[in-house]
Amino acid sequence: MASPIQLIAPNGTKYTQPTGLFINNEFVPSESGNTLETLNPYDEAPIAKVASGNEKDVDNAVAAARAAFKSKLWRGLTPSERGALLWKLGDLCERDSHILATIDAWDNGKPYQQALDEDIAETISVFRYYAGWADKIYGQTIDVGSAKLAYTRHEPLGVCGQIIPWNFPIMMAAWKLGPALACGNTIVLKPAEQTPLSALYLASLIKEAGFPPGVVNIVNGLGNPVGVALSGHSGVDKVAFTGSTVTGKNIMKAAASNMKNVTLETGGKSPLLIFDDADLDQAVKWSHMGIMGGMGQVCTATSRIYVQDTIYDKYLSLLKDYTLNNTTIGSQFDESVNHGAQISKAQQDKILGYVQSGKDEGARLVTGGNAKEGKGYFVEPTIFADTTQDMKIVREEVFGPFAVIQSFKSEEDAIEKANDSDYGLGAAVFTKDIVKGHSVAHSIEAGMVWINSSQDSHPGIPFGGCKESGIGMELGAYALQAYTQVKAVHGQFLALLY
Ligand code: NAD
Repeated sequence: MASPIQLIAPNGTKYTQPTGLFINNEFVPSESGNTLETLNPYDEAPIAKVASGNEKDVDNAVAAARAAFKSKLWRGLTPSERGALLWKLGDLCERDSHILATIDAWDNGKPYQQALDEDIAETISVFRYYAGWADKIYGQTIDVGSAKLAYTRHEPLGVCGQIIPWNFPIMMAAWKLGPALACGNTIVLKPAEQTPLSALYLASLIKEAGFPPGVVNIVNGLGNPVGVALSGHSGVDKVAFTGSTVTGKNIMKAAASNMKNVTLETGGKSPLLIFDDADLDQAVKWSHMGIMGGMGQVCTATSRIYVQDTIYDKYLSLLKDYTLNNTTIGSQFDESVNHGAQISKAQQDKILGYVQSGKDEGARLVTGGNAKEGKGYFVEPTIFADTTQDMKIVREEVFGPFAVIQSFKSEEDAIEKANDSDYGLGAAVFTKDIVKGHSVAHSIEAGMVWINSSQDSHPGIPFGGCKESGIGMELGAYALQAYTQVKAVHGQFLALLY
């Protein structure tokens, strides 16, 4: 057994942090004895060491998930009983919401209140939403004449490997676990190495809720070996991933080994279009939130802003003022702070590299562009104007508080620029003209379009992208398709052939 540890967070919260791998409802050490250490991005101080897995640990977790998938303890449950377990899990997350928000704020650097109001609130809603679905997953009867009863069943896929990133640690776990469990699958979840803690705390709630052993297993560790082993494993039936496009492509290749079902939610460079008939103050607020929220570490961040030429200068001046007046940088546990640290030194360096690239390519730096003196991985909210489509800062995902802005002349020009990207995740349109809003939404190559908002999300509304932003949808009823296999049954009433 790997022993849990007692931690006291910087906000004074005392709690028990599991540190092992979670296999068969037990916290166990890794086979190698290796650990990984996680840091507070605010001051770079170590938080805890947790077990770090390898291929052998993935084998053990997959074997546990396979046994659970065959076991009566799980397969014998009625769909309503599965739903009740998910509902209980939502209740336990609500009971411990202060602890979960503390862990994610500490481990990720995001302000505590944002973690509580957004990440944890959505985690609870997602478990409850899929609890409601568990007993409403069924196929069709198909009338092909009186000699036969033909119907479809929506069956679970089996063992699902789920690989998640560090930007919304527990919320990403909930988005993956909710639909998979509602459909009756079993799971091996791999959290990101930068944020391993909240998934382990969630594991203790999964056990407390009463999920049978092996239904959910959690293996922390590095992308290679853990993610690589999971996505290539012959005992895994499906892999679901959220993270970078490069890694998504590697996962697709690895998943081809046994033709796993694959869903991917990868990178983005989402456009936000502001027409000159828009409510400009609202457009400024939403566009600021759309790229500076979560310190820009959001796959759907509306990072490319296109503004009609007639209001371009006015918008730039309003956005700059709004940004300077609405940014307080500092500790995630300081109530006045709304802009925390980036996740890691690597991400901070990457963003600062894009600042240099923007300057080198001739974009105009409107504000920001600097790290903060001293400890912590901070980057100021950064805005580049007068960008062009060929610039690296316009084409590549920065994943930081980093907006690139240019003007457009007409609706056609705006749509062409918005679609001139390898990515197709989110998009936003600001206009008071309802016809224009919807017609632009229909023309944009993206999985999601917001009209007069950005980053709007709801458990019932599907989330996903096209082009190099991914395959398949999460959330809503659509996510159930990603976790079920349709089986067609031909039931002959009469032995017609013999
Ligand atoms: P990443 O894609 O490498 O990591 C995401 C997850 O995949 C982690 O759990 C990681 O351990 C795992 N992983 C890494 N390599 C793997 C492999 N070969 N096979 C299987 N799993 C693997 O992302 P990152 O290195 O943390 O961040 C790099 C960039 O990715 C960021 O700058 C950002 O552009 C992007 N990113 C996007 C999202 C998103 O929500 N779309 C989230 C995090 C990062």
